[in-house]
Amino acid sequence: MKPPRKDKLVIAGNGLVGSLLSILLAKRGLEVEVFERRPDPRLGAREAGRSINLALSTRGLHALREAGLEAKALSQAIPMRGRMIHPAAGEPSLQPYGKDDSEHINSISRSGLNELLIDEAARLPSVSLRFNQKAVGCDFKKGTVKLQDLAKGALWEAPAEILIGADGAGSAVRAAMMALPGRDFSQSDLAHGYKELSIPSAPGDGDARFRLFKNALHIWPRVSHMLIALPNFDGSFTCTLFLPWEGPVSFESLRSPEDVERFFSGQFPDARALMPDLAEQFFANPTGAMAGVRCSPWNAGGRALLVGDAAHAMVPFYGQGMNCGFEDCVVLGEGIDRHLKVGGWDKVFSQFSAERKPDADAISEMAVENFVEMRDKVADPRFQLEKRVEKALQERFPGEYTPRYSLVTFSRVPYRVAQSAGEAQRAILGELCRGLKRPEDLDWKLAERLIRQKLSPILSKLEPVQ
Ligand SMILES: Cc1cc2nc3c(=O)[nH]c(=O)nc-3n(C[C@H](O)[C@H](O)[C@H](O)COP(=O)(O)OP(=O)(O)OC[C@H]3O[C@@H](n4cnc5c(N)ncnc54)[C@H](O)[C@@H]3O)c2cc1C
Repeated sequence: MKPPRKDKLVIAGNGLVGSLLSILLAKRGLEVEVFERRPDPRLGAREAGRSINLALSTRGLHALREAGLEAKALSQAIPMRGRMIHPAAGEPSLQPYGKDDSEHINSISRSGLNELLIDEAARLPSVSLRFNQKAVGCDFKKGTVKLQDLAKGALWEAPAEILIGADGAGSAVRAAMMALPGRDFSQSDLAHGYKELSIPSAPGDGDARFRLFKNALHIWPRVSHMLIALPNFDGSFTCTLFLPWEGPVSFESLRSPEDVERFFSGQFPDARALMPDLAEQFFANPTGAMAGVRCSPWNAGGRALLVGDAAHAMVPFYGQGMNCGFEDCVVLGEGIDRHLKVGGWDKVFSQFSAERKPDADAISEMAVENFVEMRDKVADPRFQLEKRVEKALQERFPGEYTPRYSLVTFSRVPYRVAQSAGEAQRAILGELCRGLKRPEDLDWKLAERLIRQKLSPILSKLEPVQ
């Protein structure tokens, strides 16, 4: 492949990751052209997309800070301090996410955040945004991308000597890249689908508009399925039902309004009472599929690179897909600062692919595991005891015992380190909780020895990250 002649980058996809990346690249003095399949969302044409709101946490916030947009994003977000568990029988209870309320995740509107990023990118003179342009193929040798103008129907070819695929889980850039020799690709489809439903806001002002506790991510865990709800700024909640596609309790089994009514009244009576138009919503709203995508390498020499869901779509159960994609943009920016002058785009892209992929693999695996935790374990008294023991360990050994959830969500330690720490923590908790009834009876000497033996060697190697 010929080396590219000049440093103009073309990005396919102006979603969350593509739009943030365009800003971070422009801030480095690079010229960027972005082609997006959808119409310009700022002109009012909003597409019904995946998940109406998202959980934004430390990694994503750090990336937004680099773009100068953290404060603006947070002004549109609602802090969620913990999981509010709605058991099948009994009262809801809050399981805090972090060591105190300062450690929380943030519920933010996907379209609001995307528009904030697009607005900022549009203000930058070195970014040009083209909407209604769908990438349908790439020629990495020639350095071009083939586009379909969805407003006019015409096919055309644009120069793209350096092309970044930020075109999501069904990436066209990835499809072209995976057709090159020496590529690995796999996709694992989840046996569960999801459907979004809305709890409307209540009349009134301020917090009175929220019909459930405002500052939590609500979960109704029911072992083979679950319902979750995240608060929106206007007082409404967006619920997501995760249910198997097929089987006795499944999307397939809910065929009539009566089926839906019976299912919700039996499984989630408190949530059902807050959705007067449940059956209408259920049949009007689409049912989405979830899949994990793995591929390697993520680059075609210095000509093309995949980022965000295009490189590593994952199931949504750790709330990290976007956060991880945003962190991709930061890591790529740091790679540009370090390698572009001496090694060129080839070095930047191949280093990024080699270094970042193990982290994406780690969070993808943890996201699959977390599905079982969310839909099943959170309601289990044994799991709840382990969580209380973890909290006690975190308080007694600050900086030494940081639970995996916190490492993933409230820190920027590499995901692969968080995963290894989590394995060590599972072994430690298993040993400490054997026969234990209350955290007060913990064997502190054993705890200290296990932490120093199993966990400290993993976490002590870390460079401090801001
Ligand atoms: C139900 C659900 C809940 C989720 N919750 C969370 C959460 O709480 N926290 C979190 O961090 N993540 C969450 N995620 C994951 C998150 O949505 C994704 O990781 C994130 O959207 C990835 O951003 P992206 O820009 O890479 O891809 P996308 O958001 O998919 O954006 C891709 C963009 O490319 C455009 N495009 C696609 N094909 C083409 C083409 N051929 N040519 C041009 N443009 C194209 C699309 O129109 C889109 O604008 C969730 C996902 C789901 C499904």
